[in-house]
Amino acid sequence: MAIVSFQEMLADAQKRHYAVPMFDVSNTTMMRSAVEVAQEMGSPIILASLPLDIDGASLGYWFNSAFYAAKQVSVPVCLHLDHALDIATCTKCADIGYQSVMLDASAKEFAENSSLCAEVVRMVHDRGIGVEAELGHVASGITGAADGGSENGMLKDANTVLTEPDSVVRFIEETHVDALAVSIGTTHGVYISAPKLDIPRLKKLRQVTDVPLVLHGGSGTPADQLQEAIAEGIAKVNIYSELTAAWNTTMRDFLNKRGQMTCWFAVACAEPDAAMRERMREKMHLFGSTGKY
Ligand SMILES: [Zn+2]
Repeated sequence: MAIVSFQEMLADAQKRHYAVPMFDVSNTTMMRSAVEVAQEMGSPIILASLPLDIDGASLGYWFNSAFYAAKQVSVPVCLHLDHALDIATCTKCADIGYQSVMLDASAKEFAENSSLCAEVVRMVHDRGIGVEAELGHVASGITGAADGGSENGMLKDANTVLTEPDSVVRFIEETHVDALAVSIGTTHGVYISAPKLDIPRLKKLRQVTDVPLVLHGGSGTPADQLQEAIAEGIAKVNIYSELTAAWNTTMRDFLNKRGQMTCWFAVACAEPDAAMRERMREKMHLFGSTGKY
């Protein structure tokens, strides 16, 4: 099966009541781990790039590596652009062969967010490329830290705006996006104190639209809350921070034990890769996406 459309993938998740795992994969190690774990678990998988991963010449390296990875497995794979902040990045990725793009104009006013997303839909839909938007705003940082997480290496952005059900219908009518990221209490990055998802709000959002709903900031969200959100209609969950944390922590410990820094890269990466793959398996179990293919 290998590469399938974003729309087809999310439609199946809605029909069979699970969530597709989307992993941001910054390099070939992450790509390979994601597709091999997906194959092992019988799960569909969305491989996503963040704008930083595909800056300049990196786009060609990223796309060709991810496309190759997708071709090595028989489970459904979709190549997706996560959190583009401008239309040009979306069209560049559409042109090279991605199956879907997310334009994140969620920090802007409703009207501008809507018109920008509608424009992306006009530019890529005739090629069958899916478009994800975000309404409301999922903040970034280290949630619960007094300074908002300035050491996180991410854009510090503490302004969560929960998604208003009343605005969703109009947004979908105006834009015709294929998936909508909603803000119901998660944040990007690392939690110091556990988040509390607004499940009643999610139920209302689910009632007003049939468009697949997406949960960003899945890393660190307690398992029971993630499963409840999926039971209430979340069809895609994004994961990044937990994967990088597992890899980086294991690498740090390995190098500290080792003491000298000249060991072969493949040797050094073995334990970090195994730790990251274990997080991937856990997420697929949690999302109910295993054994589907
Ligand atoms: Zn996100």
